[in-house]
Amino acid sequence: MKYLFPKPVGFIRDDHSVYVDIKNVSGKYRSILMDCGNNHTLTTKEFINIGTVLISHAHIDHIIGFDNILRMNLREDKKITFTGPAPISDIIMHKLRGYTWNLIYDSKFEVQVWDIHPRTIKKYLLKCKEAFAKKHFIGSIKNTNPIINNEFYSCSIIRLEHDIPTIGYVLREHNRVKIDKNKLHNYGLPKGQWLKNLKKKKFEQSDTITHNSKTFLLKNLYDDLIINEHGYKICYITDTILNNNLEKKIIKFAQGSDELYCEATFMHNEIDLAKKYYHLTAKQTGELAKKAKVKKLYLIHFSLRYANPNQILNEAKRIFPQTFIPRFSGTCHITRKV
Ligand SMILES: [Zn+2]
Repeated sequence: MKYLFPKPVGFIRDDHSVYVDIKNVSGKYRSILMDCGNNHTLTTKEFINIGTVLISHAHIDHIIGFDNILRMNLREDKKITFTGPAPISDIIMHKLRGYTWNLIYDSKFEVQVWDIHPRTIKKYLLKCKEAFAKKHFIGSIKNTNPIINNEFYSCSIIRLEHDIPTIGYVLREHNRVKIDKNKLHNYGLPKGQWLKNLKKKKFEQSDTITHNSKTFLLKNLYDDLIINEHGYKICYITDTILNNNLEKKIIKFAQGSDELYCEATFMHNEIDLAKKYYHLTAKQTGELAKKAKVKKLYLIHFSLRYANPNQILNEAKRIFPQTFIPRFSGTCHITRKV
């Protein structure tokens, strides 16, 4: 069963994010926001479902939506985790401290921030009931992929080059091992604990199962009944230049993604501008998608110098035909939260 359902956020010529809804699992506040651009096209329900915000870097177009997230969640009994290149915790603390909090000491809302350093990730907690005045250090982990690994998906990161540290992200569902139910029915074998062991490959080469006087080798049943289902993979890359080394790393990182969301800020005839501002051209983005053998490429983050983003789309499409401009919502949902 699929869990990750991405949706681009913002208008077509806007500061983009990608909202990843987590469906088919129980629990609240599970959704993920990849980057924190102008998120005014999210609904109130989507804002409240956000549990994790993965920030690429703290240029204004990637964090301008922070206040909307704060405003819509302030009365919730929840914690939102923000990740980003260090010192993102200082930047978020400064944003939080930009308001007066004297009448909200009963709020249970908390912000956790992960500062991503080259070798470690340091975690901090800021509490609304303390007016976000203290940054509590709550521990650190090694910076090794995946940085998040729960029962449904993992999150991995890559360091990009944008004159400042910038982070790209991959969200990936775990591969699933399933039983071919039709074949199981044809064998006439019963369900039970033995199937759970078969899925986990917990048997010896000579182990058998006998049912209705028929005996089967488990290793043969494993080969015939087990289906390995590829976990859905979403990759988000923005605000970087390429060099040989980094290009190889990005291609490996994005390899086989079902959906790659990637900046295409400039046309390739303006490669000098792209390099000057540490961005990619549509041609470079198309080549990355092609070499990484992704299934679909969605272009984001267009320079406002282009009146018509279709010319950017066409440049990338010539290299990688499965390129699209996402279907952005045309409706702003930000209203005062009651
Ligand atoms: Zn930037």
